[in-house]
Amino acid sequence: MPTVSVTLIKTAANPSAAGNATVSLNEMPNECPVCHITIEPEYLTGAPFAVAFDWTEVYFRCTNMRCRRHFTALYKRDRGASQGSLQCFTLEQCVPVAPPRPRFDAAVSELSPSFIEVYAQSSAAEGYGLTEVAGPGFRKALEFLVKDYAILLNPQQAEAIKQKQLASVIKEFLPGDKLGVVSSRAAWLGNDQTHYECRWVGKDLQDLKKLIDATAHFIAMERLVADLPVDMPATGPATPIQNP
Ligand SMILES: [Zn+2]
Repeated sequence: MPTVSVTLIKTAANPSAAGNATVSLNEMPNECPVCHITIEPEYLTGAPFAVAFDWTEVYFRCTNMRCRRHFTALYKRDRGASQGSLQCFTLEQCVPVAPPRPRFDAAVSELSPSFIEVYAQSSAAEGYGLTEVAGPGFRKALEFLVKDYAILLNPQQAEAIKQKQLASVIKEFLPGDKLGVVSSRAAWLGNDQTHYECRWVGKDLQDLKKLIDATAHFIAMERLVADLPVDMPATGPATPIQNP
């Protein structure tokens, strides 16, 4: 286990605390929360805070030369663990968090920029630990994706699609068994994120995100297949190879 030195601050409540102490950390952060590159961070210093020294902030700097941002790792004291006479702390969170932009197939980004934006904002909320508002955000992102795709396939019914419930749009307008299965399940879990009572008790935000990712994947594959007759017609290349 790595150990770091933390500076004890003299306060009215603890007038004898001034000086340095060494504590044991269960791990060092291995990813910068800003650039999301795997790093071995540069340790700067640490400081305890909170009543009875239950939390320690440890300050690091990213070693990625394109980033070099400072960040703080929050460690919580593990009272059940000990390493000799050292107090042990467990990594809980790194801040600030800059959520990575979601990566989806270009066909999905072109189809629904709103899906990408809402998904990115929901990821940001999740990154800040705001999972209660991230869930409805992901549900909203799914609705943009499904409806934009349904409208692409059925442009003459755009107004009706916009006004319909998400489940109805999936049932009436999305082709293919697999896409229908994953998108409908994503909608079920998404609805759980917005309702007072949860139906799918064993499922969580990560399950919802997996199903949204699968929905985006199937849509990307369908767009690829739909474009093939134009990109690669059965009659062969538009410009035949000239024989010398
Ligand atoms: Zn970084």
